[in-house]
Amino acid sequence: MYLIEITSTPAVAGDRNTIGGWPILDPGQTWPACRCGTQMALFFQLDIPLDVPTFGGDHLLAFQCPRHNEACFPPRDRQLPALYWDQPPPPNKMSFWRILRQRAGVRAASADPHLQPLRLTLERAEEVSDRHGNGASAFKVGGLPAWIQGPENYRCACGTELAFLCQVPENVGFPKRPEAEPQIDSFSAAEYGMFLGNEVYLLACPARCDPAAVWPVNQN
Ligand SMILES: [Zn+2]
Ligand SMILES: [Zn+2]
Repeated sequence: MYLIEITSTPAVAGDRNTIGGWPILDPGQTWPACRCGTQMALFFQLDIPLDVPTFGGDHLLAFQCPRHNEACFPPRDRQLPALYWDQPPPPNKMSFWRILRQRAGVRAASADPHLQPLRLTLERAEEVSDRHGNGASAFKVGGLPAWIQGPENYRCACGTELAFLCQVPENVGFPKRPEAEPQIDSFSAAEYGMFLGNEVYLLACPARCDPAAVWPVNQN
């Protein structure tokens, strides 16, 4: 697994491991917009190191609407429906997030206007699992999830079991630009949080049926 650290070093256009900044999108792909019409904020993006099983070599991007800050609730059925990233199953009302994974990519022309563009660093670390099979709770990519409320497993719409990709611990703060509005219902006046600051587990489709085939599990 790789531990992810938010540094205080400003990111520049072309950086691939960032919070905020210039998203690396597929050619022809538009900047994700929320169902409410608002352009989503780029919380973070990173190149998944090549030695991370299944997902190594992909570029991961995590967006959330700057005006919608809620939790993603567990669906009743572990089989996710078609287009679950766009029309999430109940009790979720709408998709205010977009998690993307892809290989090709071109830099967007402009930077995210909400979050400070800062570089991320990734540091390789040995995963140590406890007797329940939980890994370390950390902002990390690869390794094992550290479940707070017990494991959750889902099957992608394409029929493939989703696999753990990335964890964002509770109340990880993403510093906002001074001129940006404070995030609604944030735990901080100066930072944005993902999914109300819940623990976030990104489960992704190993079959790569769609760049957005990722389900964000929340626990607290
Ligand atoms: Zn929205
Ligand atoms: Zn799939």
